[in-house]
Amino acid sequence: MSKNKSSESVKVVVRCRPLNRKEESNGPAGGIVQMDLRLGQVILRNPRAPASEPQKTFTFDAVYDANSKQGDLYDESVRPLIDSVLAGFNGTIFAYGQTGTGKTYTMQGAWMDPEKRGVIPNAFDHIFTHISRSQSDKQYLVRASYLEIYLEEVLDLLDPNHGNARALELRESPESGVYVRDLTSCVCKSIKEIEEVMNVGNQARAVAATDMNEHSSRSHALFLITVECSQPGPDGRKHIRVGRLNLVDLAGSERQAKTGVQGERLKEAAKINLSLSALGNVISALADGRSGHVPYRDSKLTRLLQDSLGGNAKTVMVATLGPAPQHYDETLTTLRYANRAKNIQNQPRVNEDPKDALLREFQMEIARLRAQLNHRKWRSKQKKEQVDGEGWERDRDEETEGEEDEEEGVEKDVEDYVKLEEQRLEREKQDIREDQFMLADEKQRLLGEKERMMGVLRKEQEATEQLTAKYKAMESKLLVGGKNIIDHTNEQQKMLEGKRHEIAEQTRSEREIQQQMLVRDEETVELRETFTSLQQEVEAKTKKLKKLYAKLQCIKAEIQDVNDEHVRSRQELEQTQNELTRELKFKYLIIENFIPPEEKNKIMNRLTFDPEEDQWKFQPLVPAESKSSSQMKKRPASAVGYKRPISQYARVAIAMGAHSRYRAENIMFLELDMTPPNSASLDRSAESEPNQSHSLDNSPTKDRGVRKSRSWCQTPKSITSSSSNVSLAACHTATPMTAQ
Ligand code: ADP
Ligand code: MG
Repeated sequence: MSKNKSSESVKVVVRCRPLNRKEESNGPAGGIVQMDLRLGQVILRNPRAPASEPQKTFTFDAVYDANSKQGDLYDESVRPLIDSVLAGFNGTIFAYGQTGTGKTYTMQGAWMDPEKRGVIPNAFDHIFTHISRSQSDKQYLVRASYLEIYLEEVLDLLDPNHGNARALELRESPESGVYVRDLTSCVCKSIKEIEEVMNVGNQARAVAATDMNEHSSRSHALFLITVECSQPGPDGRKHIRVGRLNLVDLAGSERQAKTGVQGERLKEAAKINLSLSALGNVISALADGRSGHVPYRDSKLTRLLQDSLGGNAKTVMVATLGPAPQHYDETLTTLRYANRAKNIQNQPRVNEDPKDALLREFQMEIARLRAQLNHRKWRSKQKKEQVDGEGWERDRDEETEGEEDEEEGVEKDVEDYVKLEEQRLEREKQDIREDQFMLADEKQRLLGEKERMMGVLRKEQEATEQLTAKYKAMESKLLVGGKNIIDHTNEQQKMLEGKRHEIAEQTRSEREIQQQMLVRDEETVELRETFTSLQQEVEAKTKKLKKLYAKLQCIKAEIQDVNDEHVRSRQELEQTQNELTRELKFKYLIIENFIPPEEKNKIMNRLTFDPEEDQWKFQPLVPAESKSSSQMKKRPASAVGYKRPISQYARVAIAMGAHSRYRAENIMFLELDMTPPNSASLDRSAESEPNQSHSLDNSPTKDRGVRKSRSWCQTPKSITSSSSNVSLAACHTATPMTAQ
């Protein structure tokens, strides 16, 4: 499966959006982000620091300022990645940044305006144009899925009842890595179809957003495209390459504490932070390179991106920034995040002939249907030959015309054959009707026979039609290179695209060279210096000292910043921890005080933790392996001879033949406690006159109490306390009741 095992680092590009109207009206401060497009550098100014403080500089693979076009970003940074996906690599593009900095704008953009179309629609164009221009011996199958992670739950955005759908599970297979079980995937044959899929998903997201304010900036959206391509190899066999593309629009990275969420919302925020901080931890662990353990399993997001970060994928991260001074902290955090991600090394390789390729299944199914159709063709030819030998020669000519016309030929054959047969049957029917020497009964029988034959004929025709339709539907899902999609681009346009591609490539390599030169310059400055006098040497060294001192200051400031950040995030975590501890205490209180200890122990013994789903689960009462055995089918011993366990009272009632209603029912008769209530003995006047207690027994209160407790067996209201006490029991005095 592996072909090219070289490693390459995650590409990180940074984009800054223009100041919006509100930010412009806030003051004349202007943006705090400056960009050097030639060097790929971002220079960040701290609006709160004195002017003397050095500005922070970060270098990336490419930077895009407020005037950058969507097309530039695509051609330079995304196009090579999509080309790799089409060649069978896994690819991921994810947008990271604070809410409102242009993640969705970069990923999706404005669909209607060709200038403002984002990465996703451009990728659609790219993929389908590539397919239409590829050689005709290539077959493609393109599938799309759309999901979101909201509150650590994976939700299918293409599921028709998205709102009520349950969360999906993540699974892992050695073949395709981490995948989502039962995720809807739609086969797409054109740009229009895949755009439709995207729209359906976006609508589901929008609906959820109205249910929960700010939903979309709190959920991570993943659009997945799988491109399978089959091509005959040098060995003559068809080989399949599978490229998977993840297009990820992450939730806003801002601190939730700043948005003022508390209570129930804090839980949600904690979960969003969990995913993003887990992503941060994964990036740190990978960038560090020293820590052996990478905490992918800490969140759903990191598990899904496992291959994209440090695995088998080519990855581009687009970090988005806002230029407004009030968001300096977030901008700095984003830049640090992005800076760290640059050091992640991936090991992308071509996915060749994986076992789970759907294209293979499709090809096999198409071959099976074709074989069935051919068989029918052969059968109808045989019959046709019997019916009418003339058409045979023509058929033989048709057969040589090639596979493409094959199914049409089959249809025609069957139609011809059916027509001929029908005509023949009609003729025979006519003959029978006109035959004057035949008996009426005989005529009827023969006509019936002919009718039946025609019915069989029609059924057969229908079956062939259905088979052909199924075959055509199946085959239309596969895209063939150079066909299926009409390419409107003329040669000139193709050339233009090629040139643009070249320019983008050139700019990129130029920037790389510039960056390398800058690094070399610093290294070699010492070597180049030769001093003619002591004075000159002192001057040069002082200059160098100053330079190094400035660098030291920068690093010191950096350390201070990181420390501050660390303290802040620790405080936040502590706050969340306190909240959770408080909740835990509350739950404990309920458990300890309101759940009987033996019940609690029973529950505790049945609980197991499922690390796969990150949840506690109940073990089944009966072990799974014995479920299939006959054990469950056996009736419990206590109910031998009865439909179900049965109380002692019901047994006696059956034995006595009393009251048919209680036969075989689990109704128990409990003796009423007729001893006088305790309150009577506390009554001083009652104490002095013990006889009084008897009269209490007959008091209306007691009477009412007795009647109430008997109400379940619908005793007539007129029954007195004493009679109620003996009603049913009276007839069982021979067999004393056990109240159990
Ligand atoms: P996010 O998804 O990060 O929360 P959006 O993509 O929704 O942010 O962007 C917020 C607003 O900023 C939108 O109105 C969008 O049109 C605008 N915007 C973002 N980036 C740019 C850009 N590069 N150029 C022009 N407008 C932009
Ligand atoms: Mg967004």
